[in-house]
Amino acid sequence: MTRSEQLFERAVKRIPGGVNSPVRAYGAIGEAPRFIEKADGCYIYDVDGNRYIDYIDSWGPMILGHNFPAVKESVIKACENGLSFGCATEIEVEMAEFICENIPHIDMIRMVNSGTEAVMSAVRAARGFTGKNKIIKFAGCYHGHSDAMLVSAGSGVMTSGVPDSAGVPKGCTEDTMTAVYNDLSSVEELLSQADGQTAAVIVEPVGANMGVVLPKEGFLKGLRALCDKYGALLIFDEVITGFRLAFGGAAEYFGVKPDLVTYGKIIGAGMPVGAYGGRKEIMEMISPVGSVYQAGTLSGNPIAMSAGLTQLKYLHAHPEVYKGLEEKGEKLYGGMKKILEEAGLSYQINHISSLASLFFTEKEVVDYQSAKTSNTEAFAEYFKGMLSMGIHMAPSQFEAMFLSDAHTDEAIEKTLDAVKKYFSQK
Ligand SMILES: *Cc1c(COP(=O)(O)O)cnc(C)c1O
Repeated sequence: MTRSEQLFERAVKRIPGGVNSPVRAYGAIGEAPRFIEKADGCYIYDVDGNRYIDYIDSWGPMILGHNFPAVKESVIKACENGLSFGCATEIEVEMAEFICENIPHIDMIRMVNSGTEAVMSAVRAARGFTGKNKIIKFAGCYHGHSDAMLVSAGSGVMTSGVPDSAGVPKGCTEDTMTAVYNDLSSVEELLSQADGQTAAVIVEPVGANMGVVLPKEGFLKGLRALCDKYGALLIFDEVITGFRLAFGGAAEYFGVKPDLVTYGKIIGAGMPVGAYGGRKEIMEMISPVGSVYQAGTLSGNPIAMSAGLTQLKYLHAHPEVYKGLEEKGEKLYGGMKKILEEAGLSYQINHISSLASLFFTEKEVVDYQSAKTSNTEAFAEYFKGMLSMGIHMAPSQFEAMFLSDAHTDEAIEKTLDAVKKYFSQK
C-alpha cells in the first residue's frame, strides 16, 4: 500500500469521502487520491515521493506557480504582526484601492473568504438593489455551494451524479431559473416569463466548471443588452477568469461591462479569499451603509490580504505574464490538438489562454448538454495514464486544466510527449 492509500484509508473514516472538497476525491477514477506533501513552481510532490507536473494549480490561484517567492515572503512578514485582529487594517484599504483603481468596472469592493460567499453576497446585493427576487443562471455553470446556486451546477456536482443537492429546500431555489449557455433566446424567454422580476443574470463569462466552454461571439454582449432591456443586473462570476484571462478578467478580455463581479481563487494567491464588487450605487446597499446584510469574522484577514495583494501587484506590474500564458496555452493545447489529429481522433479541445479541457466526445462542446456527451470512462483511463507518466490533472472530465507562469517549455514538452505516448497506444 502506498502512503497515499494508507492516508486515504484513515481519511474516509473521519472525513466524508476522505476529502474536504468533493473534487479532490478520485471518485470518477476509482482510486485513492494522491496526498500532497509540497509543491514548487509547476511541480507537485505526493507523500510517496512522486513528482508530477501540476495542471490543477490549486484550481487556479497559483497563476504564478507554487511557492512563488514574493508571495511566500509577504505571508511570513505579515505573520510577524499577528494572524487576525477582527478590526480594520491598512492592507484592506490598499487591496480595495488597488483593485478599484485598476479595474474600470469596479467602484467599490468587499472582501469575503471564498468564491461561494462572494456569489451568495453578490446575489443578495443584486436582489436588495433591484428589489426583485428572480435570478437566471446557466446549466453547467458553478457558482459555489450556496443553496440558491445549486441548480444544474457544474464542477463536482456534475461528476457526483447528483444533479442537485439534497438538503436544499425547494423554497431556496424556486427563484433560480436555468438558461442554456451560449443560447441568448433561452435567456430572453426566461426574462420575459419572469415579467420584470429578474434581479440578475449570473454567468461564468468563460464556462470552466463543465469543462472549459467558450462564450460564442456576441453571447456576453447579448447578455448585457438583454439585462439592460429587462432591468436586470449582469453578474460576471470571475472566480476563475478574474486576473487570469487579463488583469481585468473576462470583462476586459471580451470588452463587456458587468454590474457586479465576483472573485476568488487568484485573488487570495492560495489563501482563502473571495470578493465581490462593482457599481458604487449597488455596493452602497451593503451593511453598514445600506440595508443588505453581509459580514465575516475573518474577512479581509491580513495574512490573506498580504498574499493576495502581492500576487495581484505582481500580475499588474508584469503584463507579459498574460502574453506568456497565451503562448504557453497555444503551445500545450495547440500541441495536444495536433497529436489528436495525427492519431485520427476527433475529440474536442476547448481552449482559451491558460485554460483548456479535452472532452472525450466528437461533438462540439458549447454548453452543458454537449459537455455531457463526453465518455467519462475514456477520460478516467486517460487521467490514469497521464498520472502514471507524471502529469497531474483534475480527476474529472468536467474541470479545466490550469497553466501557470511557472510552467516551463520543458514541462510542456514533457506533457506533450506523455499525451502522444498515451494516444499512440490507443
Ligand atoms: C471555484 C468557484 C466558485 C466557488 O469558490 P469557492 O472558493 O470554492 O467557494 C464559484 N464560482 C466559480 C466560477 C468557481 O470556479
